[in-house]
Amino acid sequence: MKTTPLAEQSRIVLLGIRNAGKSSLMNALFGKNVAIVSEQPGTTTDPVTRSFEIPGLGPAAIVDTAGIDDEGELGTLRVKAAMERIKSADMVIMVSPGPQAPTAPERELYTRLFGKESAVRKVPALLVLTRGTESPEKEKQRWMEEAGGFRVENTAGEGIPDLIAAIGKTAPVAEPTPLEGLVTEGDLVVLVTPIDLAAPKGRLILPQVETLRDALDHDCASLVVKERELYQFYRALNVPPKLVITDSQAFHKVAADIPEEQPLTSFSILFARKKGELDGYNPGLAALEKMQPAPRILMLESCSHHRQADDIGTVKIPRLFRQMVRRDAEFIFSRQMPKGEELKSFDLVIMCASCMLTRTKVMTRLDSFRDAGVPVLNYGLFLAWANGLFPRALEPLQSIF
Ligand code: SF4
Repeated sequence: MKTTPLAEQSRIVLLGIRNAGKSSLMNALFGKNVAIVSEQPGTTTDPVTRSFEIPGLGPAAIVDTAGIDDEGELGTLRVKAAMERIKSADMVIMVSPGPQAPTAPERELYTRLFGKESAVRKVPALLVLTRGTESPEKEKQRWMEEAGGFRVENTAGEGIPDLIAAIGKTAPVAEPTPLEGLVTEGDLVVLVTPIDLAAPKGRLILPQVETLRDALDHDCASLVVKERELYQFYRALNVPPKLVITDSQAFHKVAADIPEEQPLTSFSILFARKKGELDGYNPGLAALEKMQPAPRILMLESCSHHRQADDIGTVKIPRLFRQMVRRDAEFIFSRQMPKGEELKSFDLVIMCASCMLTRTKVMTRLDSFRDAGVPVLNYGLFLAWANGLFPRALEPLQSIF
């Protein structure tokens, strides 16, 4: 569990008013003190995240948040940040003190999570009433009946095993693995990983490492080569690889060096499926063919990796775009998701593979782009299109998306 990247773990967010028992619940779930508990309201100011193995679900990151009724200037910011976490959560646990009548923020949260008329994208949610040995207040009792909640006593641990079992059943299983549905035991996969100036010193990047590990988990063999040696090693193989997976930047050379009938895709396209839904990128592909004059293109990366000379996001893709789509395109580079009117000002968004984000977070971004009417692509999809590799680069995944 400690070696599972946070982006791979289901993200379970605890929300509730101050002193609802969120931190005590976190400690009860872990069976030890991982969060500070105090009678003083508002002890948790910044979110605390701890990983936890949940039977039936696997590693999960549990996030304890500030109270949704926090006060003052800073408190209001914390409430906003806590509520924002719903958007990237795989599951929310609403924690509420059972014997106390609901406050306005609790009613609002309850309606948002469990209300039938809520327009908000539904996140799987569980209601937990703390101080479970005391009788629930009337309205909370009604909530229990409506939402099918749990009563727990944090200090004694009563109700905790049932709650853990319910979390395992309710939280969505984490995202698919890179090769899920694409390979079977005994297959050979070829991974093409250029080691150029942009490659980090002494290691492979996360999408390559994850794919290599996934091949091992599927009892497959892998041949890992640089694009320069591919031609020679590919021809020395006496079994045809099930799949060749390349860094998108080497698409052109790799496609030229292997037979046309060889299934080929890229790490970035595997991650477009892993972190979202490939269908969500169709409007982006269509937009390339009918781009308006002077388009504003947002290049959106999801971490602050060190940019090198001839960087893919800031140099290579903008250069190719200007050569192949519109010379007058304006590029805006960001690591922050734009909001509202700013988001609507873009004609296209091209995202990195988002390997550091959870699938839920990427899906939420795709929803925001769709709602704003802004088409979106990722680096790999754009580079496959620019290298004339459509539909070839998507064909290996076509039967399963
Ligand atoms: S999150 Fe994006 S920018 Fe960061 S390493 Fe992954 S693909 Fe690259």
